Amino acid sequence: MKSEIFARRACESAASSSLIRHLFEWGREAARARPELDIIDLSLGNPDLEPSPAVREALRGLVAEEAPGRHRYMDNAGFEDVRETVAMQLSLSSGMHVGADSVYLTCGAAGALQIVFGAILDPGDEVIVFAPYFPEYIGFVQSAGATPVVVRPGAGFQLDLEAFEAALTARTRAVVLNNPNNPTGVRYPASISARLASVLAAHRERTGTLVHIVADEAYAGLAYDRRRRASVLAAWDAVWLVRSCSKDASLAGERIGYFAWGPALSDPETMPLLRSTARALGFASAPALMQRLLPYALAHPLDTSEYRRRCERFVAILRAGGLDAALPEAGFFVFPRSPIADERRFCRLLADRGVLCVPGTAFGAPGYFRASLTQPLARIEAAAERITGCAQFVGEGRPRELAAGMPRVEALLGPA
Ligand code: PLP
Repeated sequence: MKSEIFARRACESAASSSLIRHLFEWGREAARARPELDIIDLSLGNPDLEPSPAVREALRGLVAEEAPGRHRYMDNAGFEDVRETVAMQLSLSSGMHVGADSVYLTCGAAGALQIVFGAILDPGDEVIVFAPYFPEYIGFVQSAGATPVVVRPGAGFQLDLEAFEAALTARTRAVVLNNPNNPTGVRYPASISARLASVLAAHRERTGTLVHIVADEAYAGLAYDRRRRASVLAAWDAVWLVRSCSKDASLAGERIGYFAWGPALSDPETMPLLRSTARALGFASAPALMQRLLPYALAHPLDTSEYRRRCERFVAILRAGGLDAALPEAGFFVFPRSPIADERRFCRLLADRGVLCVPGTAFGAPGYFRASLTQPLARIEAAAERITGCAQFVGEGRPRELAAGMPRVEALLGPA
């Protein structure tokens, strides 16, 4: 039936599309239909903290403004004065001049990534993605006709630069650097951009090809250590810096973010080409009201102490229960090792106990699972207790009856 109506390509892509979204939707349905499961949904990275009071106050002020023309189309790249503000902040953080004409406002980091990939990738190009990775990278790269090449992580989920070097080919066009990382919460050392750049410089010397760094910093504002670090923008000639207010400012549903680039990529042709790439994607521009809010979101970062408290508590309970879980350095994700090798099966057993986590396979890292701690502390604690209970249970190797009436989660994760 579906294929009678929809394109084969769309059906195939829907079948393999985000496990995380499926789990989230399944959780909502199950919570409605089977309240006795008391589902604690740790699947989707959907920030539950409210935007900071200053940002909410600014939003009220912006909505009340009566100036004419507030709701019209504008330059596809966004309002000039807002881009100027972003550029000034980037100039300060990078130590080099970034102008408003090197900033493009977008519908979140996802919109930015789509435009950047659309602008730099040709069919046949390769894009290096470090595992564990944000799953959407795969679809974004493929929809630009290119091929993702996954590089396995080093110890402690740090980047393995030797494996990276070995993965570079004459077809490599870009590498994605997601720092801090989703799903691990690892924040790579300050030296990482320079080290990556030196590998790319040697590759350029050898092959004459310029590889772009696509720096996805969607969680940069949620780093627990607020000390300023050298900006990736200044590390290499071809850097596209992607930022978002979704997590940093808890504005995920408002769809506002931006990307920026350094002087080496600034050419009279750059902006027209990006505008034309973006138009083909159909977004036209980021929402006008949210563009106006962006400077306030930048000026009033979210207080990360609540996320940090939750992660510390969650990890403490898991460790006390014998699980291996590292403390993140940013954000609200914890990425523990599954107590059994088949983490999909473990996530299935967790779902059976009313806790939804995402198997590491979805991030290219089997054997681990991701918990998004976007619930109040008491729920996080309850989830951690259920997880350790389940881990002990599988450790004891006892068979377990599956809860009846949960066919869809079984279909998603495979039978327990
Ligand atoms: N990049 C990473 C690493 C993410 O985790 C996400 C969202 O979860 C995005 C990009 C997309 O974020 P946005 O809501 O800003 O489009």
